[in-house]
Amino acid sequence: MINAKIIKKGDTSGNGLIARFRLPSGLEIVSLPTKNFYGGHWDLGPTWNYVVLADRPFLVDAGRYGQGRHLVDMLHLAGIKPVDLDFVLISHGHEDHDGGLAELVELTELKIRAHTVYDLLIRQYPKSAPPGYKEHFPAKCWHCFMPESFFKDNCLQYHHVLQTLGIERIGDDCQKLGPDISTLHLPGHSPDSLAVMLSHEALIVGDVVLPGITPWPTCLEQYDEVAEILQPLYPQASSLFGLKRYLRSLKVLLQIAHQYPDIMVLPAHRLYYQDRWNTLQLKLRLHELMEHHIQRCESILDIVAAGEKDAHEIARLHFSEILLKGPGKQMAANEIVSHSELMVACGDLKEVKKHCYVATGSGNFEKSIRAESA
Ligand SMILES: [Zn+2]
Ligand SMILES: [Zn+2]
Repeated sequence: MINAKIIKKGDTSGNGLIARFRLPSGLEIVSLPTKNFYGGHWDLGPTWNYVVLADRPFLVDAGRYGQGRHLVDMLHLAGIKPVDLDFVLISHGHEDHDGGLAELVELTELKIRAHTVYDLLIRQYPKSAPPGYKEHFPAKCWHCFMPESFFKDNCLQYHHVLQTLGIERIGDDCQKLGPDISTLHLPGHSPDSLAVMLSHEALIVGDVVLPGITPWPTCLEQYDEVAEILQPLYPQASSLFGLKRYLRSLKVLLQIAHQYPDIMVLPAHRLYYQDRWNTLQLKLRLHELMEHHIQRCESILDIVAAGEKDAHEIARLHFSEILLKGPGKQMAANEIVSHSELMVACGDLKEVKKHCYVATGSGNFEKSIRAESA
């Protein structure tokens, strides 16, 4: 059960729903959900930004591009003065979480904290960028498959401002943000994902665990194009990227769930959706996610068992047509690659040419996934 004091009502998806949650220790958290623009079958609902009213209060996430001012207005509505906040922490470098950051910081002069990898990937490296227009974009966008016209209309300006910002880096180890408040580095969905543990009573998890949505894992191969930037600190792709890394992050959360079975989970999407609160039982949700990935691997292996296939062909056979429209087509193929990478590592698939697979006859993936996340 979610025990919330409603400060301002939102719409049925939770947009604008400002609520105050009180943990048994007395620590309070305020939700400030801001609008997202993805619609239809890709609707995530708003981005749930949170203020933690600790001794030194701070904000987690800044909403998407264009939401910075709105976030400041919501802070005022919640009775929080931006000057009273110590810093804003970015859960990970996806645009629905840091798009509003530059505007927010311009209005409030808040300090920014984020994972080291975030600080590295929001910068431009014209000499290392893939050939073509990508030299104008920060490293975190090099893998993005949206067309140049989309970039230019929607995000180029925001990326330019973003890379001028100073970031206070948070490393891989638990970092204390206050008494009984610490960070966890949980890469896999994004290489820079951070969660915040609050007095063993609540967890702000970003996009690592969500209700009703399976967070997509990164592909290991994403490391290759940013390897030059990350290599000095992270010489191995598997420490930041891929489905296996994501499953290891889930394992960290599973240990927490065993230790603190009643911990409250504050996800970055759909805490409230379709006119109701979504209470997440952490342990149960983690098992559901693990089973989801086992089933997806199983289905891919079945498809490939019939003969050599590439990621797009597998995606067409695996996903429903509606999910393959527009950018969904590439997102679906990425999911296939991410799962296939794990099965190649387990010996169940062989990559005969780039993103083209044959089955070897073994089915080791299930054991491997259970070992990563059991
Ligand atoms: Zn994300
Ligand atoms: Zn998100």
